Amino acid sequence: MYDYLIVGAGLSGATFAYEAKRRGKSCLVLERREHFGGNVYCESIENIHVHKYGAHIFHTHDKDVWEYVHRFADFNHYVNSPVANYKGEMLNLPFNMNTFSKLWGVRTPEEAMAVIAEQRKEITGEPQNLEEQAISLVGRDIYEKLIRGYTEKQWGRKCTELPSFIISRLPVRFTYDNNYFNDPYQGIPIGGYNKVIEGLLDGIPVELSVDFTEAKTRELYAKKAKRILYTGMIDAYFGYEFGNLEYRSLRFESKTLDTPNFQGVAVVNYTDAETPFTRVIEHKHFEFGTQEKTVVTYEYPCEWTPGTEAYYPVNDEKNTALYAKYRALAEAETDVFFLGRLAEYKYSDMDDAIAAAYLKAQEIL
Ligand code: UDP
Repeated sequence: MYDYLIVGAGLSGATFAYEAKRRGKSCLVLERREHFGGNVYCESIENIHVHKYGAHIFHTHDKDVWEYVHRFADFNHYVNSPVANYKGEMLNLPFNMNTFSKLWGVRTPEEAMAVIAEQRKEITGEPQNLEEQAISLVGRDIYEKLIRGYTEKQWGRKCTELPSFIISRLPVRFTYDNNYFNDPYQGIPIGGYNKVIEGLLDGIPVELSVDFTEAKTRELYAKKAKRILYTGMIDAYFGYEFGNLEYRSLRFESKTLDTPNFQGVAVVNYTDAETPFTRVIEHKHFEFGTQEKTVVTYEYPCEWTPGTEAYYPVNDEKNTALYAKYRALAEAETDVFFLGRLAEYKYSDMDDAIAAAYLKAQEIL
């Protein structure tokens, strides 16, 4: 009999497992996919770590989390500086003096602020949706070229129907600084993300290709432990009793190209509405790769359907209410705990996932 059955070998499950083991608890980890690591899993192609489930760039403001991940790997000095391609026009992200100067020919922060101040006049009163929020933050030009198309492709909904918090991740800076993140710590693990997961799961039994939500499997494994830490989809745990929670999904198309450098940067965002993909990732640039070939991945956003991978929770009113119903069921469970993006129906960055798993371990172990 194990102390814990941990369902899901992603960052949340693996961190919890590590903490449980450290505290002398025995654990068995089950993973539905045929590999561990959840969405941070990388596949090695042409000696390049290919981020199989989309670009993952580690960044945090939390020194404890930064030190924590260093137990498992050193981190390189990668700084995320994506470039937007709007109908062939290359503009720096996040929105900063490089962007403003290229767009409007301005040279100083004062000149850039004056342009934005003029353009934001069209919004009077409190912004009511993502469109209004974006225009009041950076003006109409940037909204049209860098936000509208990308966001509507990503979410499959009009910007006027989306909540403004979605873009609160994006900094606006009046300095010539292309760093996408404001966090003081950033980098990619040297040796790849798999190394971090391997470190977290070291010495812990993991069974791959086991879907705990299948009735028979569940019956068999639930008996094997005193408590369960579940990181899968919360609605699946309860047999979709109130219906499906909705997600946005992504489809990835990867190619190996016979060139050492395809786009000169790891991430190019295609911000127009017509190009069907949102991003092209050239994986080698995350690690300053000098391989002869390169691997690129085109990222196509799509609606999630059961059986495909769920990426972004759709935290609109309908889904938030539905989640609350599942949450109430989860709270009524004894000796079953729910953790992570899918179980808590909440998008989270890697550092938040690790911190939350650590806290959960502290709370219940
Ligand atoms: N966004 C945008 N233009 C861009 C990049 C991002 O308008 O070129 C907006 C978009 O609404 C997106 C949000 O910012 O959903 C967060 O984007 P980010 O790339 O940070 O999210 P990720 O998918 O990488 O977690």
